[in-house]
Amino acid sequence: MFHPIPYGPLTRLRMAPTFLGKPVREVSAYAFADLLIDTGPSSTASRLVEWCRGGPVRRVLLTHHHEDHIGGAAALQEELRVPILGPAGAVPIFAEGLRMPLYRRIVWRGQPRTFRAEPLGETVEGEGYRLRVIPTPGHAFSHVCFFEEGRRWLFSGDLYVHERVKLLRRIEDVWQHLDSLKRVLALEPELLICDHAGILEHAQGRLRRKIQYWEDLSGQARALREQGLGVEEIARRLLGREGLLTWASLGDFSKRNLIRGLLEGSPLPPA
Ligand SMILES: [Zn+2]
Repeated sequence: MFHPIPYGPLTRLRMAPTFLGKPVREVSAYAFADLLIDTGPSSTASRLVEWCRGGPVRRVLLTHHHEDHIGGAAALQEELRVPILGPAGAVPIFAEGLRMPLYRRIVWRGQPRTFRAEPLGETVEGEGYRLRVIPTPGHAFSHVCFFEEGRRWLFSGDLYVHERVKLLRRIEDVWQHLDSLKRVLALEPELLICDHAGILEHAQGRLRRKIQYWEDLSGQARALREQGLGVEEIARRLLGREGLLTWASLGDFSKRNLIRGLLEGSPLPPA
């Protein structure tokens, strides 16, 4: 599936691998001015190149190194020769290739090819825009958001996704993620431009509710632990049983990981 949707000066490019004609797991990239922000999975790379060919895109920015955001980058670089900028910590991963567990190779139909990227600086400027690069680790160590100050737009990659995220991967750091959410909230964004949820108004309320949900969950989990319950039981009581995704990912993606993170980590001191 490849589906461009205009939204004022932005274009949301909805992409997904399909199985028996149905989209499997959707992700979006965004075209704005001469920029393309993120590039979708590798299964839609040729459609993305065709859409960009002859159009205004002159630079590609990447929010993080996950396969559903960098899958079109190699093809864009090879066929259209557009420069690619990404978080400094992820640049070696782009060059060497991403190590992906089998379940993610199956979901996204293959693995992104390698490409060369330049590290992002503190801002990205062009005609009629100025994006601040905001480090937002947690979901991925490399994650950054892009904040367009004049318009108060936040290109948030996978920082938001939705208000009540209940499953985390093992390597995600929920306390870093919360700290990143607070950092972008302090910028007072108005539009949240999310790679999974789409273009959302009332950005600050959504970010506040997301922070509140995890902080409340942390309090409830700590109370249950004081009663002597283990991680598995706490996760089951607060979030329900694990689902198919946890089973298919061999536990990499689970409710238990979220509860463990909320219990084991500690809130970061205020910056
Ligand atoms: Zn991601």
